[in-house]
Amino acid sequence: MEELQSALEDGGLTVTNLPEKGRCLSTTRDFYPGEVIISHEPYVCVPNNSHSDSRCDGCFTSNNIKKCSGCQVVWYCGSTCQKLDWKLHRLECHALSRLDKDRRKYVTPSIRLIVKLYLRRKLQSEKVIPTSATDKYDLVEALVAHMSDIDEKQLVLYAQMSNLVNLILQWPEINLKEIAENFSKLACNAHTICDSELRPLGTGLYPVISIINHSCLPNAVLVFEGRFAVVRAVQHIPKGGEVLISYIETAGSTMTRQKALKQQYLFTCTCPRCIKVGQYEDIVESAILEGYGCKDDDCSGFLLRDSDDKGFTCQQCGLVRSKEEIKTIASEIKALSDESLNSTSCRNQQEVLSMYKMIEKLQRKLCHPFSISLMQTREKLIKILMEREDWIQALACCRLTIPVYQRIYPGFHPLLGLQYYTCGKLEWLLGDTENTIKSLTKAVDILRITHGTSSLFMKELLMKLEEAHAEASYKLSSIDD
Ligand SMILES: [Zn+2]
Ligand SMILES: [Zn+2]
Ligand SMILES: [Zn+2]
Ligand SMILES: [Zn+2]
Repeated sequence: MEELQSALEDGGLTVTNLPEKGRCLSTTRDFYPGEVIISHEPYVCVPNNSHSDSRCDGCFTSNNIKKCSGCQVVWYCGSTCQKLDWKLHRLECHALSRLDKDRRKYVTPSIRLIVKLYLRRKLQSEKVIPTSATDKYDLVEALVAHMSDIDEKQLVLYAQMSNLVNLILQWPEINLKEIAENFSKLACNAHTICDSELRPLGTGLYPVISIINHSCLPNAVLVFEGRFAVVRAVQHIPKGGEVLISYIETAGSTMTRQKALKQQYLFTCTCPRCIKVGQYEDIVESAILEGYGCKDDDCSGFLLRDSDDKGFTCQQCGLVRSKEEIKTIASEIKALSDESLNSTSCRNQQEVLSMYKMIEKLQRKLCHPFSISLMQTREKLIKILMEREDWIQALACCRLTIPVYQRIYPGFHPLLGLQYYTCGKLEWLLGDTENTIKSLTKAVDILRITHGTSSLFMKELLMKLEEAHAEASYKLSSIDD
């Protein structure tokens, strides 16, 4: 690990060990919003390929891809990506080709990730692939596996998956228990690789990035440029401070966040937001994000459960909503949501749209205006409306989500920036130049911090803003004439 320390020190970073937290990544100098703290290639990665969605193993694009003729499992966009990957895929291809066609169906992205992990270790130990202080198997070895916290069912699943890995690799000396442990390591350490708009594309293991701990109030953000992971500061991190990113969706009550962290990452968060659990401020926050709205449409008060458990009282105006009324609306919403989940594929878009509109209407009646589930329904509506090119309704819906985004994603949060971007794109399509400039400027102000300015995605955004400015001055000059 000494080698790693000196590699990190050059970048103003150090790894410290805290008894209650384990390893932490800390700074040895100040970092400012927008500054890159650390960036890495994955040790191994795979796209989340499925029957309907396949991507190139090298760059994750879905355009013009072809199946590898050898194994018929892996896809490439062309010879550049295929050649770069060949040293490792040559072995993987050979191993996968030995499996009968039927079994190849069970080679999921996680199975491939482990197979690639073992092949990379082998190639590095044979010096076919070079190693470096930040790119070697020892770093994977140092990751936590939490084996003792895993339930029996999961262990059985890992054992089955390990058998399949063994069947693929056919290495006589392989240790099945170690493979199972590596599956567990992946579950709590691997990162979901997303595109610039935070849509998931694949999974990667970045053992140095995995040293960074979680906070529900992070001072840094992880974004991807292709498969390249980049961590940028979103707050000033003073010298000696710990770098913290969020492993989960930070919108949600403390209970919701803690549940998600326990389930996937097997720890209890003690960040500044989480230690407030049970305090009045935290109860108010859950009542707003996940609770009910006042009966009076003009009142924005939040509701708390009555002590006799008969209903919920608005803390602003005192109006009471009965438990029965809430139950009735909630079950109507549930029935509709279940229906929409079960049958989206066989319904036409118009029916799906009206179903979500109905859910939204009911949620408006039931939930607090800042409710997360209402916001999520509106997200779905925006998507459907945009597919239907109904820009007017999509924009109206998008504007309704902005105050909620501002509240749950404060500061430099990529999701808030992306929502402004969506607004701006819709305003542009509707010819509203003035508001396009306002929205895109807000998007740039946030995304230049979280995403930098050099990616293709950001260049496109900056170009759109420039175009809008040009259009505005053209309009102005034609009025002058
Ligand atoms: Zn490619
Ligand atoms: Zn192949
Ligand atoms: Zn927390
Ligand atoms: Zn009220």
